[in-house]
Amino acid sequence: MRREDFPMLSNKNIIYFDNAATTLKPRCVIDAMNDYYNYYTANIHRGLYESSILADYLYDSTRFVVRDFIHCSSAKEVVFTSGTTHSINLMVFGFMKNYLEAGDEVLLSKAEHASNILPWIRLAEEIGIVIRFIPLDENYAVTYENFLSSITPKTKVVSLAHVTNVIGDVRNICVIGNYCRNHNILFHVDGAQSVPHLSIDFIHDNIDFLSFSGHKMCGPTGVGVLVVRENLLKKMAPVFYGGGMNESFYSEGGYQLKDIPVRFEAGTPPIAEVLGLRSAILYLMKIGLDNIHIYEIYLKRYLVEKLSEVPSVTIYNKDSNSGILAFNVEGVSSMDVSKYLNMYHICVRSGSHCSKMLKEDLNVLSTVRVSLYFYNTTEEIDALVLALKKCQNIFKIVEY
Ligand code: PLP
Repeated sequence: MRREDFPMLSNKNIIYFDNAATTLKPRCVIDAMNDYYNYYTANIHRGLYESSILADYLYDSTRFVVRDFIHCSSAKEVVFTSGTTHSINLMVFGFMKNYLEAGDEVLLSKAEHASNILPWIRLAEEIGIVIRFIPLDENYAVTYENFLSSITPKTKVVSLAHVTNVIGDVRNICVIGNYCRNHNILFHVDGAQSVPHLSIDFIHDNIDFLSFSGHKMCGPTGVGVLVVRENLLKKMAPVFYGGGMNESFYSEGGYQLKDIPVRFEAGTPPIAEVLGLRSAILYLMKIGLDNIHIYEIYLKRYLVEKLSEVPSVTIYNKDSNSGILAFNVEGVSSMDVSKYLNMYHICVRSGSHCSKMLKEDLNVLSTVRVSLYFYNTTEEIDALVLALKKCQNIFKIVEY
């Protein structure tokens, strides 16, 4: 699907299966950023000349593009950040630090990415919140029953990935969000691995905070989004202070902040990157998130079927409903598998994938991860499977 849109696929002889780490960029995104640099470079929210006004318009109206993409109520709820990690840190230290008290419980799972665990651990050190983990089932997934049994009267926040980055299980955020809203629990969704692949509805799913990254959805690196329900965003404090976010400040002390969401974007923001993100979202919307999801599931099933034919391969997540597949080859480290596949120009990820607690359930330290996107094909999967079948002893082939 639409391979011709991606310069990397025509410029380089690669099979790119590392889309959960970052995706390739279509020409329209690269062009949008180049246009800003070639034709209307200017800072935003400062100049009254033509290029500056155009940059202002495109930057500010990208909030409406995001609103329509993830279906929140208002463009005011959209804060630009540098990525999911920044978004979660902003939420934790700008909002949760003031909202939570010692002893309050935050519910996570051990399958979360480091970016959705470490800020909470740091907050626990700072103010004494308690982190609890929802037990994973035999497929390393969060069931609604396990979610419910982990709730206590002290649960104040639930923070979960919509799709996890190793197992790729899709959490039922709609029912979890509904429960949280009815029980006065705040719900943060880490959308880094879902927003690029699935249609998401911020209002319908009762989400309070949503984080995601531009670079995992055909957009540039260095830009991401934190969407926060308007009444909560009004209560959030900025973490960074400086130009662009204040109305005024005084020699005797004190300051007045600009309105939401600009007050959270101190300093010169990543302008070209926001414009690249705008182009990426419009591009994805044109293809249709439902089409992307259906095609990825088709590819994933094909991959599971073909990879299951390789005797030495163990697959950890045959049934997860996303384009992410984690496996190991018997007796070979995941690093050696990925180095070996590199000899065939096949790009996969190996290691713990920033989910360092998952090993407690998975009982392996690292896996090889194939993560698919809509430009992958069954022919590419055949090439991967053939390479793995050919390899009798990866240790002998890989050069150190
Ligand atoms: N959350 C999940 C589930 C992820 O997969 C990732 C990145 O892989 C992140 C958060 C962090 O994203 P970023 O590195 O873009 O901040």
